Amino acid sequence: MTKRTAGPEIERLIQLLARLPGLGPRSARRAALHLIKKREQLLAPLAAAAADAAETVKICSTCGSVDTSDPCTICADSRRDPHMLVVVEDVGDLWALERAGAIACRYHVLGGVLSPLDGVGPSDLNIATLVSRVAESKGAVREVILAVNATVEGQTTAHYIAEQLAELGVKVTRLAHGVPVGGELDYLDEGTLAAAIKSRSLL
Ligand SMILES: [Zn+2]
Repeated sequence: MTKRTAGPEIERLIQLLARLPGLGPRSARRAALHLIKKREQLLAPLAAAAADAAETVKICSTCGSVDTSDPCTICADSRRDPHMLVVVEDVGDLWALERAGAIACRYHVLGGVLSPLDGVGPSDLNIATLVSRVAESKGAVREVILAVNATVEGQTTAHYIAEQLAELGVKVTRLAHGVPVGGELDYLDEGTLAAAIKSRSLL
């Protein structure tokens, strides 16, 4: 039998926290201790917020994002450009693009990328819903921007989607690859530099 330091309620809290991304067992114990010390200000409100979220979170049936309403806040926002649809792998990528604030558009969340080695095929992702969404927009969607990660799986997925959309007469674009803002050439890897040369643009 393993030696226990605390009661089962605390052990369970630590075990659950340790399953969060970026938290190992050690940082989970620190987080649990912090929550316990701040029981009134933090632990109780966090528990209530988690219970509320678990109760109210829905998957948007249009774009596949998460929100507390269906259609989600973004799909229901009439001020967004109806002509552009940005395809992302995950909700985290959608949130990152929203934080960047570069375009006011709508999104489509794939829920992952094609990965034959992990057994992820087209039917495991929201690709069919994307194709029918573009087709059913009857020309309203004019451009699909594939904002997938610059990984082999991401790019394979982008090519597959471009093929699926080819007959719909919609413009399909992808994000530029290259030098990050504030980046110094000397510190970049060869793959990034080669991609930057290929996707150069006119000044
Ligand atoms: Zn939505």
